[in-house]
Amino acid sequence: MHDRNEYIYKKEVNWSLLTEGMTLPVENQIVFGRLVNGFLQKGEQKAIHIYLNGKVYDAKVVNVNYNQKYQRKHDVLQIRYPKNGELARELQKLYASSYSYFLNARKLRPEGSRSIPKLPENAKEYLVIYTTIYDDTYEFETIETNEVSTLKEIVVGKSEYSFELDYSIDIKDETSTIIEVQKTSKIRKLNRKIGEYLKELYGYRCQICGRLIGEEYGSHIVEAHHIDYFVKSLNNNADNQMIVCPNHHRIIHDANPTFDRTEILYVYPNGYQEKLKLNKHL
Ligand SMILES: [Zn+2]
Ligand SMILES: [Zn+2]
Repeated sequence: MHDRNEYIYKKEVNWSLLTEGMTLPVENQIVFGRLVNGFLQKGEQKAIHIYLNGKVYDAKVVNVNYNQKYQRKHDVLQIRYPKNGELARELQKLYASSYSYFLNARKLRPEGSRSIPKLPENAKEYLVIYTTIYDDTYEFETIETNEVSTLKEIVVGKSEYSFELDYSIDIKDETSTIIEVQKTSKIRKLNRKIGEYLKELYGYRCQICGRLIGEEYGSHIVEAHHIDYFVKSLNNNADNQMIVCPNHHRIIHDANPTFDRTEILYVYPNGYQEKLKLNKHL
C-alpha cells in the first residue's frame, strides 16, 4: 500500500501512447523502480490495472529484455495495452487534437518513412502516471492543451518565487473562477508531486550545498526551484526542477544566476560559479 497519488512519470503524448503503450525510463525512478525491482526480472511481465476517469482497464508492465540486442545496462520498462483496444480508444478520445495531428502526420509522411513529428510546443499534451492505494493499479491522468493554456492565463505576471513557495499549499487567487481552478488543479498537483518526488530522491538535501537543513530540530526544510521559471514556461518536468535549501533559493531569485546545463553549475552575474554538489537527475 502507498499514498494514493505517488507520482511515477509524466509522459508527453505521442503515437505509441495513443495506440499501444509507452516506455518508462527506470533511471532516477524511485517509486516505479521500487515497485518493479522486487517483482520483475529482465524479460518478465506482470498484469496491471489502469484507472482512468472512473474506469479500470487491463494492461501489463514488461521489463523488456533488450540486453542481448542493445547491451543496455538499465532495465527498460514498458506499459502495454491492447493495440487500439478500449484504453487506447479512450486516450484517442481524450487527446482528440493530438490524435488527429498524428493521424495526419502519418498520412503525409513520405513512403517508407517511419518517423512521426512531435507535437508543436504550444500543443503538447501529457499523460501523468500515479500510484493508487492498490498495489497493481495505476492511475492515468490527462493534461490537455486547454488546461495548460488556462493555467498560463492565471499565472501570467505572478512572482515565480512566491508561486513556488505557495503551490505546496494552493494558489489562492480571488480573480480565478471555479472552473479555472478545477481546470488547473491537475497541473498544480502534478507540479507539487514532482517536487515532492525530487525531495525524496535527494533525501531532503540541497543540490547546491548538499546540506540537510533543520535536521537538528527534527525537521527538514527544502524547496523545489524551477530552472526555467514555471510562471513563464509552465514546465514542471523533473528536469526543470532542482531541490534547494531556503538560503540558496532566496539567493537564486535575488541574484538571478544563469544555469549551465552542460557543466551543471550556476554562473552568477558577479562571475562566481557554483557547481551542484548533488545531482542525479539533471
Ligand atoms: Zn543550499
Ligand atoms: Zn525558485
